[in-house]
Amino acid sequence: MAVPKRKSSKRVIRTRKSSHSKPGVTTTECSECGAAQIPHRVCPSCGYYNGRQVLTVDAD
Ligand SMILES: [Zn+2]
Repeated sequence: MAVPKRKSSKRVIRTRKSSHSKPGVTTTECSECGAAQIPHRVCPSCGYYNGRQVLTVDAD
């Protein structure tokens, strides 16, 4: 098995790991209620998807 010849410096490790972060969740504005929602998912606040009601959401 290949073994590293030298210890990686803090800078090298931190520079490599700087690209490891996950991007945040993309949200769009709901066309019915205007709330933030994930694209291609039913809107959690009004229950609409593709211009029609697909879920009944409790209003409280
Ligand atoms: Zn909505």
